[in-house]
Amino acid sequence: MKFLKYLIILIVISCGKDSSENIDSKLLEIDSQQSNISDTENSNVELSPLDLAKSKGYSVFVCNTPSYPVKPEPNSVSNGYQYHIFGWQLDEGYKSKCVNIYEGVSGADKQLIEEVIYEATDRLGQIIPINITAVFGGVSDLNDVCKKWDALKLTNGGCFELGPPESNYFLAAAGVDAENIHNGGQGEISQAVFRDLERGKKIIYHEIFHIHQNSHKYYFEESQSFGWNEEQINSLRDSETAVPMLGPIWIEEGGAEFAAIYLSDEKGWIDYKKSMIEYLDEARSVIADAAIRSDIVSLKDYENGKVIGKLESSSNPSGAAREKAYQYSAGSIAHIFAIEGKYTTLDAILIDYYKDLAENERDYVGEGYKYSFTKNWGISLENFYKEFDEFMLKPRAEQISFLNLE
Ligand SMILES: [Zn+2]
Repeated sequence: MKFLKYLIILIVISCGKDSSENIDSKLLEIDSQQSNISDTENSNVELSPLDLAKSKGYSVFVCNTPSYPVKPEPNSVSNGYQYHIFGWQLDEGYKSKCVNIYEGVSGADKQLIEEVIYEATDRLGQIIPINITAVFGGVSDLNDVCKKWDALKLTNGGCFELGPPESNYFLAAAGVDAENIHNGGQGEISQAVFRDLERGKKIIYHEIFHIHQNSHKYYFEESQSFGWNEEQINSLRDSETAVPMLGPIWIEEGGAEFAAIYLSDEKGWIDYKKSMIEYLDEARSVIADAAIRSDIVSLKDYENGKVIGKLESSSNPSGAAREKAYQYSAGSIAHIFAIEGKYTTLDAILIDYYKDLAENERDYVGEGYKYSFTKNWGISLENFYKEFDEFMLKPRAEQISFLNLE
């Protein structure tokens, strides 16, 4: 049929314009084009992206259900990178916000979690669907939870443990990685989080921020595709010292904490200044305590999880463990320092930094975060460490004033 249409159009054009002698040569041209079209149709290149996704088993995004029967093959491969366009990118499934509840979790709990997800995605954007597993330790059926959770997360049967039914069973985690991004972002939370009326929403915001950060590190805005270099991911996973693709741990955790507190305060869910002064004091205490043993604390020490683990244990070269969690406390203070110090803006460090990661990592293997940092934080990472470490040694009142927390 197509060929016939071309033929008729061609004849009309040819007759109107040229002498009949040209028709044959043009016919030949069209004929060869036509056979190319047939070839490409056979090799799937002509399939629309959605049809291609469907050919890999995608039908429609459904909460708490894998989007694909198995991890899908990439749409294309080049220079060690594999690129994917997922079905839920094409049918608005990426906007899905699923709170999957189990026995013991009430409708009100679900509503509270949803309120935070809607607020966070509205503020930060959303490029992948979200599944949050909400459980009540000791009450929810662990088998049921883990079966569903593992099907999405593809941990090969691994699962979290469900603690006791007491209200203090605490579980809060979320993210996404290359192994399971075709099913969207995942998170797990328990009663100690969603029943905590003082800090619960902030903690949920923190977890949603992890999905925001980690989805962008694989996303190429220009081609609207997700991509990664598996070899690079594996080598980072095995490294004892390398900085993760997302950047230093203090950016991942401090960024999530700062964003959660700052943006929760905008909604009246938490007191930003009070929370941040507490963090400032916590960070100051880590420095002061370590100083007793001549253990000099730098923000740079908090780039890699394994290195942090060592410094916070008896393997610390000074012989004693540092007080914990400087990556959260100082990490969030560092975000305020950058904004109040007029190096950068809120959106540049909470959104643009993450958006630029995938592209920079592809251009500068293993160092993409440094380029994204310089561009979006407005200062090189090394200089930032110098200035921030100096700032952390200043008198408390001066720090509070500079950070605009009084
Ligand atoms: Zn976190």
